[in-house]
Amino acid sequence: MTRSIFEKIIDRQIPATIVYEDEMALAFRDINPVAPTHILVVPKKRINKLEDMTQEDSALIGHLCFVANTVAQKENLEGYRLVINNGEQAGQTVFHLHIHVIGGRPLSWPPG
Ligand code: 5GP
Repeated sequence: MTRSIFEKIIDRQIPATIVYEDEMALAFRDINPVAPTHILVVPKKRINKLEDMTQEDSALIGHLCFVANTVAQKENLEGYRLVINNGEQAGQTVFHLHIHVIGGRPLSWPPG
């Protein structure tokens, strides 16, 4: 399996604006933000997409939500949206599981 771009960010092989890190997760600003705040929360463990998670990943995925809320609070967002794109048809382009934390402007619904 080739290393994902996000693994290279985790290993500091390519630069990113990192806003949070712990032993399980990393959060950094999206290179192509769709809102004033657009942060990606990724697990250090490689899981290609959400549908590949197993029951033993449940606590890890829950932790990613905790991290997403932590960074959203740090950004002082009034409201925010978490997005996980699963699969190409849903718009996933990087096959290393990630949660988008999007906020800082009014967000419409439904999404495109
Ligand atoms: P997806 O479409 O897979 O849900 O989201 C992938 C996200 O990763 C996109 O929003 C894209 O802008 C972001 N992205 C892709 N390559 C890089 C990169 O090298 N650095 C950073 N910070 N974000 C990236």
